[in-house]
Amino acid sequence: MVIAIDGPAGTGKSSVSRGLARILGARFLDTGAMYRMVTLAALRAGVDPSDAEAVSACAADVQISMGYDPDVSSFQLGGEDVSAQIRGDEVTQAVSAVSAVPTVRTRLVDIQRELSQGAAPIVVEGRDIGTVVFPDAPVKIYLTASAETRAQRRNAQNVRAGFPDDYEAVLADVRRRDYLDSTRAVSPLRAAADAIVVDTGDMTEAQVIAHLQKLVTQRSEAVR
Ligand code: C5P
Repeated sequence: MVIAIDGPAGTGKSSVSRGLARILGARFLDTGAMYRMVTLAALRAGVDPSDAEAVSACAADVQISMGYDPDVSSFQLGGEDVSAQIRGDEVTQAVSAVSAVPTVRTRLVDIQRELSQGAAPIVVEGRDIGTVVFPDAPVKIYLTASAETRAQRRNAQNVRAGFPDDYEAVLADVRRRDYLDSTRAVSPLRAAADAIVVDTGDMTEAQVIAHLQKLVTQRSEAVR
């Protein structure tokens, strides 16, 4: 069973998806990390992220692999662990351009479908999981929160990780990525018509996880 969790940056999507997978004993797939790995490969190859043809050629050769454990961040590019590098600023700046390239999406969506095969439940987190990757997923959740709330959370996370406190810059980046991700021609960020929209603005992470667990239980009983 696929549990599709979509939404923009800073909704707590990643921590919530990991937490939910942990509670359910499910596998976990972070599809954003896949777009980040392709972006890192392009940057390392000296490819201009806005050059769709060059990005596409580079993406065709990239070898990515990743684990399913929600407690272990393990992302490999050509066998090298790049779990830290894919979270860097340069990758974050360039990833929206790279993920707008149709051939990049086709390749990664194929890999996502392949990795999600099997009877064991899997929580798949991204932007287009409920709309494009798994349109038949029995559980689709779309997490939202205002851009300001999301920027506050991201900024606090950055500060905890030792990065400078810069709310305005983080807010500008959140808005920039929202715009690019929701206006791109291929698989734009949006909630599937049958997704359950959850506004996480006034909820703690634990509350969101408990709420999603309830939704998953209800849904599994309904499809049984
Ligand atoms: O989730 P995360 O912030 O790591 O995603 C990084 C970027 O990857 C997003 O801003 C978006 O451009 C892209 N992405 C996507 N489709 C997905 C997951 C991520 O286009 N399913």
